Amino acid sequence: MNAESVRALFAALAERFEAERERLASLDAALGDGDHGSAMVRGYSAAKAAVEGAPAGDNVGDLFGTAGRAFMTSVGGASGPLFASVWLAFGEAAAGADALDCDAAARAVAGACEKIARLGRVEPGDKTMLDALGPAGEALKEAAGSRVPLGEALRTAADAAASAAESTADLGAKKGRARHVEAQGLGHVDPGAVSVSIMLETMAEVARR
Ligand code: ADP
Ligand code: MG
Repeated sequence: MNAESVRALFAALAERFEAERERLASLDAALGDGDHGSAMVRGYSAAKAAVEGAPAGDNVGDLFGTAGRAFMTSVGGASGPLFASVWLAFGEAAAGADALDCDAAARAVAGACEKIARLGRVEPGDKTMLDALGPAGEALKEAAGSRVPLGEALRTAADAAASAAESTADLGAKKGRARHVEAQGLGHVDPGAVSVSIMLETMAEVARR
């Protein structure tokens, strides 16, 4: 995934989250305050504009960092810094690189999991975005070891994230607004986990183009 693909990625994410806005809003309405769809749309439209406006010579690491910072400043609440940290981790893992490879992607997702756990004070099983990102990171790590192409690795990671996101319905929330909901939101899927699976799915599509 080169610099041109990273610009295409954020354009695709902005479009995809616009299409998912209502679904994410209603998932968040069941567990939180219903603003998750609009938060993601705001963040990704800012990230798209920022990478479009970035200097032509920016490398992949620069562009992920620019997207992460734009996301961070445009989205407040609990989720702004948490979702931004995913892209900031990609920026760090791909620092100075002309292309994102499987190894860097695996390091990025592992790094993002650590940041989110620390920043959000969450553990796996707390019914958050971390429950989708963790299995995706494991899948990427395995793929990096067996040297499959990035697009395929991301496809596997996206599938792992999607099924893990579905499984958050079986978890009771321990963090965020959802812990105040009846039965800690048991039976409802965590919107942030779904967003993580959408992010990886979109990334897989762009990487395979
Ligand atoms: P807010 O909670 O501020 O309304 P959003 O609705 O945009 O933010 O995002 C909600 C999602 O953010 C949740 O579904 C969950 O996945 C994630 N989230 C919320 N709080 C935390 C936390 N402390 N740690 C990790 N993820 C969290
Ligand atoms: Mg919300």
